[in-house]
Amino acid sequence: VMVLVIGLLAGCAPKQAEPVATPGTEEKKPVKIGISLPTQREERWVLDKDNFEKVAKELGVEVLIQVADNDAAKQQSQVENMIANGINVLIIAPHDGTAAANIVTMCHDSGIKVVSYDRLVMNADVDLYLTFDSLVVGEMQAKWMLERAPKGNIALLAGDPGDSCAVLYRQGALNVLKPKVDSGDIKLVLDQECKDWQPVEALKHIENALTVNKNDIQGIVAPNDGTAGAAIQALAAQGLDGKVPVTGQDAEVDAIKRIIEGTQGMTIFNDIRDLGRAAIVSAIKLYHGEDPGADKVNNNGKYDVPSIEIAPVIVDKDNYKKILIESGFIKEEALK
Ligand code: BGC
Repeated sequence: VMVLVIGLLAGCAPKQAEPVATPGTEEKKPVKIGISLPTQREERWVLDKDNFEKVAKELGVEVLIQVADNDAAKQQSQVENMIANGINVLIIAPHDGTAAANIVTMCHDSGIKVVSYDRLVMNADVDLYLTFDSLVVGEMQAKWMLERAPKGNIALLAGDPGDSCAVLYRQGALNVLKPKVDSGDIKLVLDQECKDWQPVEALKHIENALTVNKNDIQGIVAPNDGTAGAAIQALAAQGLDGKVPVTGQDAEVDAIKRIIEGTQGMTIFNDIRDLGRAAIVSAIKLYHGEDPGADKVNNNGKYDVPSIEIAPVIVDKDNYKKILIESGFIKEEALK
C-alpha cells in the first residue's frame, strides 16, 4: 500500500519546467587565438605556422600569428598588440623562456589564458604546456651515438640556453653519455651551447674541436638539423663528412637528403602537425573552461605545469619513407 501511495504522489507531483532549447543558444562563443612564434629560420617553425593556419581554418577559429625573429622584446610587443586586438587565448613558443614570464603576467592581467608551445615559459603560471619531451630527445640521440661510437672522442652541441628544450636536451644527452665518460670509454671533447640555435655557432665550435683534436673525433651529437648541417660542413672541410656519425632533430628536408647521401646519420621527427592541432584544440577548451586533458607535468621553476606530450621518433635511412613520406610530412619530390 505504502509503495502505491508513494508512486501515486510521485506521479502527481508537478513537473519541473523543461528548458526550452532555442536554436543557437548552445553554440559556444567564438574564440580568437593569438599565436606567437620565435622564428621562421628553422623549417619546422615555417611548418608550424602553416599548420596553425590550416587547423584554425578547419576548426573555424580566428588566429593572429606573429613571428618574433629571435627577439624577446619584439615578442613581448607583438603580444601586447595581440591583446589590444582582442585575443582570448595565447599560444606562445618563447624565444627566451625566462623573459616571457612577463608576457604571461600581462595576458593573465587581461583574463587571457596562456598555452606554452614546444618551449616552456619559465617561472610563470602558464596554464598549459604542449611539447615533445626534449630530455628524451637528448637521450635518444646519445644512445644512438653510443651504438655507433662506443669509444673515442665525442663532441656535444646544444641549443640556445634560454630555450627550455635546449637545456633539457643537453641534460638528456649527458645522462646517457656521463657513465661512458666516467668509465673512460668516451671523452667529451666538446660541450657547447649554440646561441639562438645559430648554425654558424655550431660551425665555429666544431671547426675548433676538429683543430684542437687534430680531427680525431668519432661522433657529433647535434641538437637539431640546422646545427647538424653546420657540423657536417665543418667535417666536409676536413674530408670527414660521411665518416663521422652526426645526429639531428626536426626532420628537415635538407637533413633527410643528407641522411640519404650518408653524411647525417639520423634525425628526430617531432610531428608538429599533431602538436599544433592539440594546441589549438586545448586553447579552445581552456577558453571555455573545459579540461584540456593534460596527463604530464613539467616544472618551470614556479610550479608543475600541466602538460601534454607527443613522442619523438628516430628517423634514419631505413625508415624515413615509412615515417615521413607515407605520413605526408615530406613529399618524395622534395627529396630529389
Ligand atoms: C625546437 C627545435 C628547433 C629549435 C630551433 C627548439 O625549441 O624544439 O625543434 O630546432 O628550437 O628553432
